[in-house]
Amino acid sequence: MPFPPDGPSLTDAGSSAAALPLRGISLLLVEDSRFTCDALRLICQRSGARLKRAETLAAARALLDSAHPDLAIIDLGLPDGPGTDLIASLSATGMPVLAISGDPEGRTAAGEAGAVAFLDKPLPSVAGFVRLIRQLVAGGGADVPGQDHDAPAADPLALRDDLERAAALVAGDPAQHGYATGFVRSLARAVGDPALERAALHAGADGGRLVLSHLIAERLDRLQAAC
Ligand code: CA
Repeated sequence: MPFPPDGPSLTDAGSSAAALPLRGISLLLVEDSRFTCDALRLICQRSGARLKRAETLAAARALLDSAHPDLAIIDLGLPDGPGTDLIASLSATGMPVLAISGDPEGRTAAGEAGAVAFLDKPLPSVAGFVRLIRQLVAGGGADVPGQDHDAPAADPLALRDDLERAAALVAGDPAQHGYATGFVRSLARAVGDPALERAALHAGADGGRLVLSHLIAERLDRLQAAC
């Protein structure tokens, strides 16, 4: 299902440069987690950046036929291949690319593919994100900003979508197992759930997949009860 179109909300934040520090900047986000997409959508809405989103490499390439963003934010683990392929092709055109991942070990591969910076999950605050994007669009690399974790809370429904997808992936095709555990690990980091992250890391051990399935089901039950 395609994402609905996004745009900054100009009605509630005023229109001054201070209120919307990323006004006029367009971003492409390629990310398969609805939770992370929603969190970044809120940050862009608050800072005035225009955001287009794609869940797969194929969808991103289709968008890029007609869109020319100022910067691309590309997740490393995507359903139809590694984000590094797209990072390399966009970097070669001169577009600054920010890699994002729930796996801090992806930093080297992202840098080698041409990403100018790497954003680990969980996401930084709105102010940290704004600083980073301004630095990157103005040119040159940047370190990840100080991660004072007060990013806006994403929609619980987006988290539920991700957990349901995680449950299906973990129970599904063993050929997709690497992608499935990467998806869960990334989600666990984004929401700050170290027990779930550990279970995803050890899903390949004896009985590991079952433990992971149980934890995901437990998170879904808890979310259901809270909604
Ligand atoms: Ca991913």
